[in-house]
Amino acid sequence: MGKIYHKTLVISILVLILALFVPTAGAGIQKLDALASIFAMRPVTVECKTPAEDAILHTAWGYVWLGSNYMTLDNSLCKAMVSPDESSDWILGGSIIVIIHESYHLRNWDLQHNEAAVECRAIRHFKVGAKLLGLSEKRIERIFPWALTFHWRLVTKFPEYFQKSCKVPNPW
Ligand SMILES: [Zn+2]
Repeated sequence: MGKIYHKTLVISILVLILALFVPTAGAGIQKLDALASIFAMRPVTVECKTPAEDAILHTAWGYVWLGSNYMTLDNSLCKAMVSPDESSDWILGGSIIVIIHESYHLRNWDLQHNEAAVECRAIRHFKVGAKLLGLSEKRIERIFPWALTFHWRLVTKFPEYFQKSCKVPNPW
């Protein structure tokens, strides 16, 4: 039992296209567990699945079951973070903001259920997450506009994700 707390509904058509890619192998996933655990402030794991394996991923890039100790991410996101050098900027930027967002849902804190609070932290801590993933400053600067794009699209399209007081680090 449990309800799906969160679905990040982002560009599902592209998710479907990316789902055709080869699934990520097990190696390297520990890196994602470690990253998620830092933001969740407890040991959590990242499950990587294709939309064919998990139908929820047809409409979301990632989700958590509130109260669980894992998140499920679209395999294309995992692949981007495990092999960033082979990844395009847009999906890497999107992947990192999604993993941080879901991690904050898994953190035991008062606002773990609050989409706006969680999303605000995801965009504010994006660069920290990217650095923890081992990306260079140069790459982070390149992918950051994509993270902002995903963030603003999400909060515009789904008002429950919008926190007016959020100090989004827009560079312009
Ligand atoms: Zn969420």
